[in-house]
Amino acid sequence: MQKIELHEERFCMRCGGDLVDRFLDNRTRKVCSRCGWICYKSPTLAAATIILLDGKLVMVKRGVDPHKGKWCLPSGFEEYEESPLETAVRETKEETNLDVRIVKLHKVIFTTHFPQQHLVVCFFLCEPVGGELRAGDDAQDARIFPLDDLPEDLAFSTHREVINDLLEGRI
Ligand SMILES: [Zn+2]
Repeated sequence: MQKIELHEERFCMRCGGDLVDRFLDNRTRKVCSRCGWICYKSPTLAAATIILLDGKLVMVKRGVDPHKGKWCLPSGFEEYEESPLETAVRETKEETNLDVRIVKLHKVIFTTHFPQQHLVVCFFLCEPVGGELRAGDDAQDARIFPLDDLPEDLAFSTHREVINDLLEGRI
């Protein structure tokens, strides 16, 4: 796995001025010394989908790092103008070519797995409504797996947790 370097924000995203530490709203935050912009740091939102096709689970083999070559559920980061539901539908289409309908929100998991980018991942149970399964541009492969023969080496522990929910009847 690639080594991830941690570094703090140093410059203002608005004007390029130096950021300095200031105590605001009960914690130390980075504030621009020139324009006063406050660098609020928030977790990034991602969405992932649980899709059964002919009773088998749809999974994607990652084509990019981190965890390139490992399997995971269709998933990706939210764009600024999207709702989490829209992210789930779009990412699934991009990675698997399947059109899906959201059935329900299964679970929301907060993870600090990537120290430089904390995540909130929304896992949605979805129903396929169209499209032929095939891998998208940033995936090496997209396939269906029988529930008793799933890949062992998964990219993300959060996806493992949700797949266990599926196998143990909690979805
Ligand atoms: Zn500034």
